[in-house]
Order: sequence, then C-alpha cells, then structure tokens
Amino acid sequence: MAHGAHRTPLLPPRPDLGLARDCEVCLGWGTVVTRDGDHELCHACQAAPADDRDAIPSD
Ligand SMILES: [Zn+2]
Repeated sequence: MAHGAHRTPLLPPRPDLGLARDCEVCLGWGTVVTRDGDHELCHACQAAPADDRDAIPSD
C-alpha cells in the first residue's frame, strides 16, 4: 500500500466491477470522474454505499 499523498480525504471508491460491466455510463469502470477530478462511484450501476437505505439486494 503506497501512502504518498495525504490530500485525499476519501479513499478511492471500490466499485463492484460485476455491476459496472454492462454500464454505459462508466464504461465498466464502476467509477466516474467528476469535473473536479474526483473519483466517485458510478451512480448508474453502483449502489450507494450504506446511506440511509438498505433495500438494495446484494448478490
Ligand atoms: Zn456505471
């Protein structure tokens, strides 16, 4: 594990590539890059990680 930069407040998102596979939004990456250059989970295929809802069936 390389810990060089400490400016990133959040760990890189860890998308489920199985879900991202057929996604046209993120092209299979599971993450998208915002205009600020931040990586975030693709809203189209990645379920929101434990927000308020727990109704998302996991495989
Ligand atoms: Zn996606």
